[in-house]
Amino acid sequence: MIKYSLECNQSHTFDAWFSDSLNFEKQNKNNQISCPNCSSLKIKKSIMAPSIPSKNYKSDLLNEKKDKVEVVLSKVRKHVEDNFDYVGDKFADEARSMHYGEKEEREIYGETTIEDAVDLIEEGVNVKPMPGVDPKLKN
Ligand SMILES: [Zn+2]
Repeated sequence: MIKYSLECNQSHTFDAWFSDSLNFEKQNKNNQISCPNCSSLKIKKSIMAPSIPSKNYKSDLLNEKKDKVEVVLSKVRKHVEDNFDYVGDKFADEARSMHYGEKEEREIYGETTIEDAVDLIEEGVNVKPMPGVDPKLKN
């Protein structure tokens, strides 16, 4: 059984059950479906029914969420770029030096390999992936 939200040509909406979509098409074609409000036989499927969201409706919502996340991420990224020292591919060395007290601690960002990042984390260094940027892989 399929539940359809239907709409007549007077914009009345109502729900009805059908065994399948063909059954709906057939009944509608034979004028066997009528609007409970005005008895109109001009019935179509209502596309705005919240119980049957269209694919576009879903992806719009997802895109909206994604946009918001990207705004937040780009703000964090801007903060990092404005306030942290960029150390390029010396990131692992710098982070390690600071961790072991060889250098004064400061906030840095840069590039490192996944292997180095894993090593750093295992050594207890506070490493976080830069938001909004794909990690650069080097082998
Ligand atoms: Zn109606």
